[in-house]
Amino acid sequence: MKVKQYEKKDFAWTKWGAKEMKKLAPFLLEEKKKAYEKIKQILKEERTFDNTVRAIESSGDKTGDNISIIHLLMEVSPSKDTRETAKKVIDKFQKEALDVEFDEGIYKALKEYETGNFKKEKAKLDADDIKLFGDMLRDYKRMGFELDKKDQEKLKNNLKNIGSLGIRFSKNINDYEDHILLSENETAGLPASFLKMLKKDKDGRYIVTLDYPDFYPFMQNAENAKKRKELVDKSLKKGGKDNLSLVSKILKLREANAKLLGYKHHGDYKTETRMAKNADNVLRFLKDLLPTLSKEVKKEIKELADLKARITGDKKAKIEYYDLLYYSNLLKKEKFNIDNERVREFFPLEMVKNGTFEIYAKLFSVEFERMRDYPTWHKDAELYAVRDGGEIIAYFFMDMHPRVGKYGHFMATEVISGREDMISGEYVAPVACTVCNFRKSSKGSPSLLDHSEVETFFHEFGHVMHQVLTKARYVSQSGTSVTRDFVEAPSQMFEEWVWKEEALSLLSGHFKNNKEKLPEDILKNMMASKRHMIGYFYARQIVIALCDMMMHTGASKETPNEVYNNLTEKYLHIKMPRNNMWLAGFGHFIGYDAGYYSYLWSKVYAMDMFSIFEKEGLLNAKTGADYRKLVLEKGSSEEEMSLVKNFLGRKPNNKIFLKEIGIIK
Ligand SMILES: [Zn+2]
Repeated sequence: MKVKQYEKKDFAWTKWGAKEMKKLAPFLLEEKKKAYEKIKQILKEERTFDNTVRAIESSGDKTGDNISIIHLLMEVSPSKDTRETAKKVIDKFQKEALDVEFDEGIYKALKEYETGNFKKEKAKLDADDIKLFGDMLRDYKRMGFELDKKDQEKLKNNLKNIGSLGIRFSKNINDYEDHILLSENETAGLPASFLKMLKKDKDGRYIVTLDYPDFYPFMQNAENAKKRKELVDKSLKKGGKDNLSLVSKILKLREANAKLLGYKHHGDYKTETRMAKNADNVLRFLKDLLPTLSKEVKKEIKELADLKARITGDKKAKIEYYDLLYYSNLLKKEKFNIDNERVREFFPLEMVKNGTFEIYAKLFSVEFERMRDYPTWHKDAELYAVRDGGEIIAYFFMDMHPRVGKYGHFMATEVISGREDMISGEYVAPVACTVCNFRKSSKGSPSLLDHSEVETFFHEFGHVMHQVLTKARYVSQSGTSVTRDFVEAPSQMFEEWVWKEEALSLLSGHFKNNKEKLPEDILKNMMASKRHMIGYFYARQIVIALCDMMMHTGASKETPNEVYNNLTEKYLHIKMPRNNMWLAGFGHFIGYDAGYYSYLWSKVYAMDMFSIFEKEGLLNAKTGADYRKLVLEKGSSEEEMSLVKNFLGRKPNNKIFLKEIGIIK
């Protein structure tokens, strides 16, 4: 398929401001509405895959591009006015889109095709066509179109309520502010660079807030246990009492909707469309891992308690909920003695970027070319083209440094989804973007990354590859549009590269002399530290995932917060304070509901797929080509499970995952 080539003017959207967005806003859904009207008028006997199923699918393509663009600019535009306008446009769009999507006539059109010409056409349709149609029918059913009018209204109302209660829940968390005050004599253990960053009150005391850049360094380094307790206790109130009542309201509404649609519970409803297929599979997966893992955790906590006993002189010292991060950090320093600032010297951003390009280019036989003089939203955002056999097949942006008002974490996102254009038949080249926040270079020192940032970058770039190498014909099957419990797998797999010498020799080089590679003793320590507290890390994920799935399956008579407390005590060997409100600050409750298990679930497949590369070579272009063709290019045009099987050449298993998390030695 011929790939559509872009010119500079095709990137004019990077310069959109509030004016352009306001102009566009009233027309965002226009094209879709028009297409829907046309589709509804077709007579049953004239319905075909192209004029019905494919027409419904592609009716959202242009809208999708525009919304993705506005969404991206909301996160990265240097203009506050643009960012705020973008947010308003998106909020309004989401409300209106719900009404457009809930179109009975479109569901009828699909049913007419199913009972009509589908039978005749089926034999000549491709597998991705049939999957598209099946998924579409299923999704309309999940929207309640098989219910009678009254129940359908109920369902839609519940959805709207869940939406607005959910926004209130998230807002309660985002707006929640609290802090502790520190006098100079309470700062023992805290690095000078950290203290310098903190604000002070009028009496000169340091203010430590609940925000991540304050909270974690404080909990990891502050010697003063009373102050650590004070801060965690405050953090365990995050979200406030209102959120606890919102959780029970939302749980009831989710449950009601699942029942209306004929599911046992929200857990089954959410997992039906995923690799896991049902909530029981998830619960079994989690419960199988926990008891064995818990034995590892017990050893780890014991080691921390011994350290605490040695330091405090109290032989009976126990690890409390406010001790964990502190003693874990202390033990890590004692055992591995890794100087992060020294490690950074070996990971200058340019070196990491070029090394990353080199590795991915080798693996997938592509080239990356910097496109200068193309429009971008900020001078820090760079555009690259991906060439395959000389021809440009995709583009991606990289926006690497923090700015005022810019998205503060790391992400990779699709701006234009790769797809076949229904009219021209050309392939629409995907455009992806990765947003990072690496320290900027300053006089005398280039931008230097620590090892975990190298890992994150490599991970995000894995998502970019998934997006730009796609050959899926439909947007809903394109790039990273795969199930939630698979989407992280490719990137989780690539994380393993940054722990291997073969890749590190390409990624690292001292900023003063890049021939000087990461010294062996540092490398050894880093490798060893990868397993520090790994049992606890995974067990905690499982505890939260269990808690999330149990509250969405009605599996426990206890409140979700009690479930969390009990699981934490039983399996993590940490006693939580009475009456804590952990649940009120559990942000993943909105949007990631009955989905917290996904990270662990996809890790099983990530580790299994990695074993093939480990055997065949981390830079093996043949294995890379297989992976590209069998997994990355496919998106979700085939079931995710069969993608994995095809690449492995066998059924997947969890052996390497169990080894990774410390269950198998
Ligand atoms: Zn990711």
